[in-house]
Amino acid sequence: MTHRVAIVGAGPSGFYAVDGLLRANPDLHVDIIERLPTPFGLVRAGVAPDHQGTKAVVRQFDRLLALPDVRFAGTIEVGRDLGWDEVCEAYDAVIVATGRVIDRKLGIPGEDLPHVWGSWRFIAWLNGHPDFRVGPDLSQVRSIAVIGNGNVALDVARVLAKGAEEMARSDIVPEAEAAIAAAPLADIHIIGRRGPEHASFTGNELAEMGRLARAVAVTDPAALNVAPPASGPTPERLRKAKNLEILKGFAAHQPGSKPITIHFRFNAPPLAFRPGEVELAVGILPVDLVVTCIGYEGEPFPRQEGVYAVGWARRGPTGTIPSNRAESHAVAKEVLAWLVARDPKSRPDILPAAIDAAGWHRIDRHEVAAGAALGRPRVKLTDWPALLAVAQDD
Ligand SMILES: Cc1cc2nc3c(=O)[nH]c(=O)nc-3n(C[C@H](O)[C@H](O)[C@H](O)COP(=O)(O)OP(=O)(O)OC[C@H]3O[C@@H](n4cnc5c(N)ncnc54)[C@H](O)[C@@H]3O)c2cc1C
Repeated sequence: MTHRVAIVGAGPSGFYAVDGLLRANPDLHVDIIERLPTPFGLVRAGVAPDHQGTKAVVRQFDRLLALPDVRFAGTIEVGRDLGWDEVCEAYDAVIVATGRVIDRKLGIPGEDLPHVWGSWRFIAWLNGHPDFRVGPDLSQVRSIAVIGNGNVALDVARVLAKGAEEMARSDIVPEAEAAIAAAPLADIHIIGRRGPEHASFTGNELAEMGRLARAVAVTDPAALNVAPPASGPTPERLRKAKNLEILKGFAAHQPGSKPITIHFRFNAPPLAFRPGEVELAVGILPVDLVVTCIGYEGEPFPRQEGVYAVGWARRGPTGTIPSNRAESHAVAKEVLAWLVARDPKSRPDILPAAIDAAGWHRIDRHEVAAGAALGRPRVKLTDWPALLAVAQDD
């Protein structure tokens, strides 16, 4: 008998854990239990649709799905279709890789107004997540506040600002693309609570904001008068210094010189949202839509012997896709050490009927074929009935 390990969640951290386990012990059996019919977590539903290079990482995950002792079980949500206790009981070890995608709140008045959107809800919509099929009404939106100073804020602003030509080779869902193209957008304000030296943008993503065809990035040069990062070339200091250089370039741009102006506003904590405006500590800003990009929370999961967490479920909503690899591999080692001392359990298979890897590959082929006709990487299926019909259509 072989040990059986359940990985709950088919995002990058779950796949890196599978990789770590099977490199060290190819005799294990691994079940990847995923609530969606599609694997890859935030690579499919979070990473911006115009950053296809980043999404290419899924090829290495897909190869793991082809291994004989790896079983993909899509459309099974642990906590709904199977109890956590059942899963813990049935498997020799459980790795929780469920991520975190509940939009964090700022805790200020007006956050529940209909024109205030969390970044997850917004990005999941334009990425075709089947639970988020309705997007904001952009038809009258001229001015948008994007709250936050991380790369997700840049993703939101960039996808709104890009023109049709720049999105032509993306996999943004057609409804979202059409809504953005038809919006009378003129101003996007990226709002930071603190100064630019505290922003967590990365250089390449920030620099891209200065190269958009229909949008010009600007900022107030006075806001950039901050002490240079202390000397010594740590990666963090270099990143901050590079950001300041890029922002200085933006400060020389002319607002209004392209159809959309992206304003980087610093030291402007938001105090309240009201219809048509956001109150910042530095004054009132008229806006028609707000997207908050201030991080995420997660669902609880059991913390007991034999249960291990990886990725965003473990350490919170920070870190890029590759940064999950080393951690998942380290956790895989801990799991293997735990298993060595135990005999495999003899338990019946508890998985209900699920979408397997073949079902996912039918979805994949269908989407890629739909995209090929338009010169796009794929056109995603976005509703549950269509996803299930294609997955189950032998
Ligand atoms: C908007 C956004 C943009 C990003 N862009 C980039 C980028 O450009 N480059 C980059 O390197 N990183 C980017 N990241 C970060 C990257 O996506 C994360 O580092 C990575 O996805 C975390 O992996 P994970 O496996 O922990 O979680 P996730 O990717 O969230 O995967 C979790 C999986 O678990 C499933 N799941 C959840 N609960 C259950 C349950 N109860 N039962 C079964 N399944 C469940 C989910 O459906 C999901 O498939 C971005 C993140 C966000 C939010």
